[in-house]
Amino acid sequence: MFEKILIANRGEIALRVIRAAREMGIKTVAVHSTADADAMHVRMADESVCIGPPSSSESYLSIPSIIAACEVTGAQAIHPGYGFLSENANFVQIVEDHGLTFIGPSAEHIRIMGDKITAKDTMKALGVPCVPGSEGGVANLKQAQALCAEIGFPVIVKATAGGGGRGMKVAQSAAELEKAFLTARSEAKAAFGNDEVYIEKYLTTPRHIEIQVFGDGKGGAVHLGERDCSLQRRHQKVLEEAPGPCITAEERARIGKICADACANIQYRGAGTIEFLYEKGEFFFIEMNTRLQVEHPVTEAIFGVDLVQEQIRVAEGMPMSFTQDDLIINGHAIEVRINAEKLPDFAPRPGRITQFHAPGGLGVRMDSALYDGYKIPPYYDSLIAKLIVHGKDRHSALRRLARALGELIVDGVDTTVPLFHALLQEDDIQSGNYNIHWLEHWLETNLRD
Ligand code: ADP
Repeated sequence: MFEKILIANRGEIALRVIRAAREMGIKTVAVHSTADADAMHVRMADESVCIGPPSSSESYLSIPSIIAACEVTGAQAIHPGYGFLSENANFVQIVEDHGLTFIGPSAEHIRIMGDKITAKDTMKALGVPCVPGSEGGVANLKQAQALCAEIGFPVIVKATAGGGGRGMKVAQSAAELEKAFLTARSEAKAAFGNDEVYIEKYLTTPRHIEIQVFGDGKGGAVHLGERDCSLQRRHQKVLEEAPGPCITAEERARIGKICADACANIQYRGAGTIEFLYEKGEFFFIEMNTRLQVEHPVTEAIFGVDLVQEQIRVAEGMPMSFTQDDLIINGHAIEVRINAEKLPDFAPRPGRITQFHAPGGLGVRMDSALYDGYKIPPYYDSLIAKLIVHGKDRHSALRRLARALGELIVDGVDTTVPLFHALLQEDDIQSGNYNIHWLEHWLETNLRD
């Protein structure tokens, strides 16, 4: 058993990992930038180390500083959280070269899934259904034209090295292809230093359905059903729920088994998420995230498991604490992401929290690093809290969400809470009738002024 682990992250996810470790009797080391000296994760951990100035590239992304922090504190393993170094294969390699354990998948799996073409090829070979499109990269416009004549419009041109919704361009017709192709290429070059792109059929009304998988690294793997993350703004998730309102038990069992088998086959270790677009009863793989997701608590709520403790267990070489048969869905869970942003344009609003009160009661979980008087620094992501509710069914979860949002007090900065109050009034949200474009349309009509 590890005696001490270091958390290479900040904010709510650092607290999330500290809580899991403490319940397992494992000591924790927080790392922080000078801007985060007063942060809650620093207060809550057993020890803390300042690893650099505010800029992430010189602190939370500084591999030498993080390795040094492990060495001075005697931490044996590193949990990366999400974002920052969580999907950096080079980091994993360096961690292991220093005799430390990375709480996550192997460098090789991170590398494979980080390159979208390799990821798609790998998944296809493992029997996972993919969006129709190019076999590998598309080298020039002529090749793109020939392919699109075959698969038909609309199409989406995507960066092989893409992430965060960047480097993607849609072409509705042959006339739009040249511009989409060249723009996607130059954006990919600018954002990722790699201009390779590939082409997929553009699905017009899909839902974003992702399957949570978990592997022991030795050929054992399970799935923990799906999350519906279709409510998105600029390809960023805003609200997530589990189970998916439109997924049947048969569909879940079928796609879940395909995903679990794929992970077993490659001997995947730890938590992973296989993302699909879902349209008219069909699943189409888009990418795999080789880490814990922001929205993992909705899965934890309906299965009654602790995914972070499970990550720590398998990183130590222990078996998973559940089998597929143990994983039975109980009720419905919804998460909303609360950001320090001002509507309608979602402009970041860092600043001092003058008053904070978290909602509570049965079925309510608040993952947040806020406290009264805390000053949100301007250097990082604007996510300040995740409110997760769990009810016996979707209807009760929605009622509970409205009740919990009503109890929440965050004074001193603007937040996205009013968005959720408004969304809960919508029939489509109440009935679960939305796809990946629904929120953008709603924002255009409702928040224009
Ligand atoms: P990233 O890694 O940049 O987040 P993804 O491949 O996960 O990129 O896609 C992000 C989002 O872009 C999806 O959730 C979906 O909204 C949209 N998208 C991606 N591929 C397609 C496609 N073939 N058809 C329609 N929408 C797509």
